[in-house]
Amino acid sequence: MPRFTLPRDLYYGPDAISELKNLKGYKKAIIVTGGSSMKKGGFLQKTEAVLKEAGLETMLFEGVEPDPSIETVFKGAKAMRDFEPDVIVAIGGGSPIDAAKAMWVFYEYPEKSFEDIKDPFTMPKLRQKAIFVAIPSTSGTASEVTAFSVITDYSTNIKYPLADFEITPDIAILDTSIPQTMPKKLTAHTGMDALTHAIEAYVATARSDFSDPLAIKAISDIYDSLVDSYNGDKDARAKMHIAQCLAGMSFSNALLGIAHSLAHKTGAVFDIPHGCCNAILLPFVIQYNSKVCMERYAQIAKAIGLAGYTDKQLVNSLVDSIKEMNKKLNIAQTYKENGVSEELLNANIDKIAANAVLDPCTASNPRPIDVENMKKVLMCAY
Ligand code: NDP
Ligand code: MN
Repeated sequence: MPRFTLPRDLYYGPDAISELKNLKGYKKAIIVTGGSSMKKGGFLQKTEAVLKEAGLETMLFEGVEPDPSIETVFKGAKAMRDFEPDVIVAIGGGSPIDAAKAMWVFYEYPEKSFEDIKDPFTMPKLRQKAIFVAIPSTSGTASEVTAFSVITDYSTNIKYPLADFEITPDIAILDTSIPQTMPKKLTAHTGMDALTHAIEAYVATARSDFSDPLAIKAISDIYDSLVDSYNGDKDARAKMHIAQCLAGMSFSNALLGIAHSLAHKTGAVFDIPHGCCNAILLPFVIQYNSKVCMERYAQIAKAIGLAGYTDKQLVNSLVDSIKEMNKKLNIAQTYKENGVSEELLNANIDKIAANAVLDPCTASNPRPIDVENMKKVLMCAY
């Protein structure tokens, strides 16, 4: 049976962190964050202050690295078991929010192993010990509203996208002052990640009448605001923060496609940020998929006012407009241009293609794909 799941509450606006005051009545909050960006911006102190004022005892778990590891997840779960919070507040980019989601699972179920939850929709029932609040600081992953958590196994360099509606946060807080401190490159990469979410969701096999309008609105707002956001416009940054969340609401339910399958498998191996991989891959993935869903891509192109009389022309306009956007955001058009050597590619292409076919995102891609074709798409993007 189709299902559509979102967080229970969503607060948004320039000072939305203050809405943590609604947690009054809970006892203990563990705050999970990344390196130093949230402290530098004063957002971590604000989070602690509002929680304390609401009567909660707080504990900080900091230092979640970008593309979080299995080890960090277990360390955080142990800290949770020692502190016994009834609220988990994750503040930061997709990495600390994703890590905190996985910590949550192992906090509630210490006997489970990573292997036990690796397959989609096999998670045990959460919220027996704590609820989950997410405050995103980047405008891209939308982890604050999604059923996903991406954890990296560094012994194999493979990213595991954990997936289950159980890990959809209970409360999302979109404080539009937080993404204002993002450096330009991060703004570009996370913004293109969000665009890829929305475009992949709009053509994914699990799309629905609920996910479609969210995807189209997200795409249109991202086209309106990403380049200005990159160039530092404050209103555009606020608009992107909301748009990426709309994209998240869409793809959490509609799922994704092979741009993400390949991004998950190339990111760690090529050492390129997730959003940047998506930005490079997206035009080539659209070309591959358009054999089966040209009309859907044409609808996107029309919705954002691109030129073209036929669906084919509209799809070409869409592909060109994404490449143009990458150029304006100083993102490379290919992996090669991004510095990936032929040796590195050749040493890994078979493994990448085989793993990408097995990635959960491949199952919802509109056009089926085998290892040979996956290699071809990757070669086009090289
Ligand atoms: P990260 O969370 O990895 O953060 C990247 C860097 O940005 C960190 O160094 C961080 O610094 C810094 N940073 C974050 N916010 C700010 C800010 N407001 N100002 C200044 N610096 C900031 O970035 P992403 O959000 O792109 O997350 C990427 C991860 O999310 C990947 O692992 C990806 O696979 C995953 N992902 C998850 C999805 C999901 O549905 N759950 C969907 C798509 C991707 P510091 O550490 O100091 O805070
Ligand atoms: Mn993504």
